[in-house]
Amino acid sequence: FFEQVPLAPPDVIFHLTATYKADTFPQKVNLGVGAYRTDKGKPWTLPVVKKADEILHNDPNLDHEYLPIKGIPTFTAASAKLMLGADSVAIKERRVAGAQSISGTGAIHLGALFLSKYYPKGAVAFVSNPTWANHKAIFNNVGIEVADYPYWNPATRGLDIDGFLGALNAAPNGSIIVLHACAHNPTGVDPSHEQWTAIADVMQAKKHFPFFDCAYQGFASGDLAADSWSVRHFVDRGFEIFVGQSYAKNFGLYGMLLTAIPSMFEIWDAIFEDHKRERCGCLTAVTRDTVTAKRVDSQFEKLQRSEISNPPAYGARLVNIVLNDPVLFAEWESDLRTMSGRIIDMRDKLYKKLIELDTPGQWNHIVDQIGMFSFTGLKGR
Ligand code: PMP
Repeated sequence: FFEQVPLAPPDVIFHLTATYKADTFPQKVNLGVGAYRTDKGKPWTLPVVKKADEILHNDPNLDHEYLPIKGIPTFTAASAKLMLGADSVAIKERRVAGAQSISGTGAIHLGALFLSKYYPKGAVAFVSNPTWANHKAIFNNVGIEVADYPYWNPATRGLDIDGFLGALNAAPNGSIIVLHACAHNPTGVDPSHEQWTAIADVMQAKKHFPFFDCAYQGFASGDLAADSWSVRHFVDRGFEIFVGQSYAKNFGLYGMLLTAIPSMFEIWDAIFEDHKRERCGCLTAVTRDTVTAKRVDSQFEKLQRSEISNPPAYGARLVNIVLNDPVLFAEWESDLRTMSGRIIDMRDKLYKKLIELDTPGQWNHIVDQIGMFSFTGLKGR
């Protein structure tokens, strides 16, 4: 029967990476993939991840047994705390459920699958226009229809807040709204606090369900609380939410090797640094009370069992060590400032160069945008 299977187009970003690798031009730069690079254009293993690695390797009690279905309990608890804040009322009231996932993609998938089973049938998931391409695919794969809400205003190279609010108002009550918690991919444009408040006002009135995608906490501004402000604001206002977290960017745990490797030394280094990386993330639900959280948690477990049985251990063990040790946590925050600081610095340098060269047009959006993505406003030829 295979002969009737249609040929799927290659993934644009990963295809670009493969083409980039095959290109022999020495000054090539890959601007397509969302992965942090050093000044030398190389991947960066966070110093705190190296330390956690050592701790892990010196742990005599470590084994290769299965993890629990929902992952390492201290990892999911620490992930919720990281996202919602150490003094989160929702955590204190024990109305939070969580499951370890295969990075951010796995978290969004598990959440979408959950919604496909338990959210009122026929609800549409709204994603920003534009958005990370996988959003539509993930929701469609579990049978949820996807529509979009305006987000990018090409005239201002900023947020189309009126279009956004208008679409939220026009959407059927109880729609699923996918929101980028910070460092919007691909525009780099985030709502201000005031705009988030307006978004929450409409969503509350329309009883929409917020599904936050948080792939860049600490990586956007270098400040973990600032980068999760939107999520915390919704929770403070009493929303029930889903939030999917990725540790790919903020821990450098992408789990894949994407660069061209010119020397033997670098091959050695890359193999040893990268082969051990494993993708980890977390899906957290904030519910109205403890009993509900328990029910949601039990369904997370049931769904996860048939999906992946139990999550991979390695990356989550590293993150678990760092998140639960105050000294290592502080070192991680410093590593985050190194990465976010360099990105902000690169934006600044690009902006200044464009001005210095008297480049026609307005370029302030380069520095106004945040995170690793930028909509330049340039058109391809
Ligand atoms: N959401 C967004 C908006 C992203 O940009 C990414 C990473 N490109 C992800 C989720 C998840 O990525 P991963 O599965 O690698 O954690």
